Amino acid sequence: MKHHRRWILTLQWAVVAFYAVLLLVPPLLPLPNHEARILDHLTVFAEFVFWGIWWPFVMVSMVVAGRLWCGMMCPEGAITEAASRVGMGRAIPRWMRWGGWPFVGFAMTTIYGQLVSVYQYPKAALLVLGGSTLAAAVIGLVYGKGKRVWCRHLCPVSGVFALLAKLAPLHYRADPEVWTEHGRRQRRREVSRSRAPDCPVLIPLKQLDSASDCHLCSRCSGYKDAIHLELRAPGIEVVSPPPQRPATLWEFVLVVFGLLGIAVGAFHWSASPWFVAAKQQAAVWLYQRGWGWPLETSAPWWLLTHYPEHNDVFTLLDGALLLGYIGVTTLVLGGLVSLSLSLTNRLLGRWRWQRLWHLSYALIPLAAVGVFLGLSMTTLTLLRGDGLLIHWANDARALLLGLGVVASAGLGWGILGRYASGPRRLAAMLPMLAAQAPVIGAWWLLFWGW
Ligand code: SF4
Repeated sequence: MKHHRRWILTLQWAVVAFYAVLLLVPPLLPLPNHEARILDHLTVFAEFVFWGIWWPFVMVSMVVAGRLWCGMMCPEGAITEAASRVGMGRAIPRWMRWGGWPFVGFAMTTIYGQLVSVYQYPKAALLVLGGSTLAAAVIGLVYGKGKRVWCRHLCPVSGVFALLAKLAPLHYRADPEVWTEHGRRQRRREVSRSRAPDCPVLIPLKQLDSASDCHLCSRCSGYKDAIHLELRAPGIEVVSPPPQRPATLWEFVLVVFGLLGIAVGAFHWSASPWFVAAKQQAAVWLYQRGWGWPLETSAPWWLLTHYPEHNDVFTLLDGALLLGYIGVTTLVLGGLVSLSLSLTNRLLGRWRWQRLWHLSYALIPLAAVGVFLGLSMTTLTLLRGDGLLIHWANDARALLLGLGVVASAGLGWGILGRYASGPRRLAAMLPMLAAQAPVIGAWWLLFWGW
């Protein structure tokens, strides 16, 4: 990759062009009817590509190859970096370095995406995805010089990708001893000075060890003979995070309340009989008091789904209940998981916040499988619309969920081993396993229970 930058740039801009066509053209076309197929209507094709293939398999790629996608193919990464080369080059402000942005960005785009039905309608997809791309370009134009400031600090999925990449079996790593020795040899003029690599995501290269932020662009490969792409045991970074990149509060919040809370609620609500029952009860309650307007008032399509020609209009009541459903799911699931992890933390000895953040890493595989299963519901729905019935879908779901459970349990056991041994480790394992139960229950309801 280091020696074929031109090919990589060509690939990146080809993806940008493909992305632009799929994002910009469908909103100009009439909405497809229910008989439209993937290959005979660009809107359905774009829906299938974005939500049925792109997102679920980009998630898979993070686990398999780290953030290679970000470095090689992501259109926003390419655009923000290119904009930053010609932009104002301002320093990154303090507010942008706040660690909560990845969670806030993920939460806002997930919830807003549900309010405007981003998976179904091209104008909504243009607003959500295109809005993010526009923001990436603007940030690139203002901040950094040839950098990916957007990806490092503000991209709404970068926090999720950073978590998933910790599971990857390969990463770039700097060997500090070789680095130091190389410096000595440079001073003795035994080796010539080489230009420092231009890391687009601003990683301090001497400490490079984590796969979380690295976009695997390979520009630093071989620098000072100390940086190399290495294989490692999958999940090792989860069990033993590098000292310079320990687990953080915001990562805990993103795993427990984001991926295991907000994301589950967002996938759940449209299939939930509880949502329907709550809506009926709320409607009766409102009518009895003469307050019919929340059931009769809608909003523009960019605020709440509004496609009367498709009999798909969200009223204010729908919007409020959707927010309420995702909110309650987040609090219940996130609360139960937090409780179990807190009990695990307490059983390991004196209370330590840092250890609690670290314990949440064990749930990354379960969270990743959940989001993949949720996104692949769109894949299966569209394939079914094309007459392709996948009868083994539920078996595959059970298998993937089982793999997620086993992987999370294995990582949990490994993490506990860093803090305790013997009976204490065993005792702490029980609430660690219990942390998975509410999440498994939620997916079971969605795929089998309802
Ligand atoms: S650490 Fe190296 S491989 Fe990773 S993004 Fe920076 S320059 Fe590219």
